[in-house]
Amino acid sequence: MLGRPFILSEVTWKTVRESRYEVAVLPWGATEAHNFHLPYATDNIETEEIAERAAERAWKTGAKIVVLPVVPFGVNTGQLDIPLCINMNPSTQALVLRDVANSLAGQGIKKLVVLNGHGGNDFRQMIRELQPQVSLFLCVVNWYKILDLKPYFSDVGDHAGEMETSVMQHIAPERVLPLSEAGSGQARSFKISAFREGWAWAPRQWTQVTDDTGVGNPAASTAEKGKRYVEAVTAKLGDFLTELAKADTTKLYG
Ligand SMILES: [Zn+2]
Repeated sequence: MLGRPFILSEVTWKTVRESRYEVAVLPWGATEAHNFHLPYATDNIETEEIAERAAERAWKTGAKIVVLPVVPFGVNTGQLDIPLCINMNPSTQALVLRDVANSLAGQGIKKLVVLNGHGGNDFRQMIRELQPQVSLFLCVVNWYKILDLKPYFSDVGDHAGEMETSVMQHIAPERVLPLSEAGSGQARSFKISAFREGWAWAPRQWTQVTDDTGVGNPAASTAEKGKRYVEAVTAKLGDFLTELAKADTTKLYG
């Protein structure tokens, strides 16, 4: 057999024909600046790796999971003035998701999990709209929300901070510059208190918020912190995939 059977990019038609995949996982990231020390593909690298590790865990229990190729473009309307941040509008994402879901539904895949790794992406409303139109079950997981970050990291920033940097130091250390290269990730907050308190919301204009594109200080990041966190996230996600693969989605309540 060529490749790991739970990763579509690695397998051949022969494996696909023989595997009765139950759950497809669609990693979805973004292409955007991540302070001075992490690459533009950070969200894609993280999300694909977490999908693969979780799928491996589920596969070992007998769950038929397949990880699809990562969609590399996210909603970045607040970063259009940063060179090479690539925005994919929510309405475009909805069409991409619809086409992927329709392809799979017609081929007998019963469940699709969007694994999101970018804070600007929000798939819930898309799924509400799309679900009645397709026969397969749809759901979304934001992997960075699976666990409370506080027990794992001292500075819980939300972009290229201690969490993301530690994760990258663990899964792709060759793609991270030394921390001495990183900016402080210091972010300016809204002057209007309702926005700071979170009950009023507006998208952030990134270059007005931060000077180095980071939000959160990466200084205390380590590969060990990343390992501990990624292992906990993938364990929980893998167990969810196992449970979902077994579940009858017409009987989800009880
Ligand atoms: Zn990121």
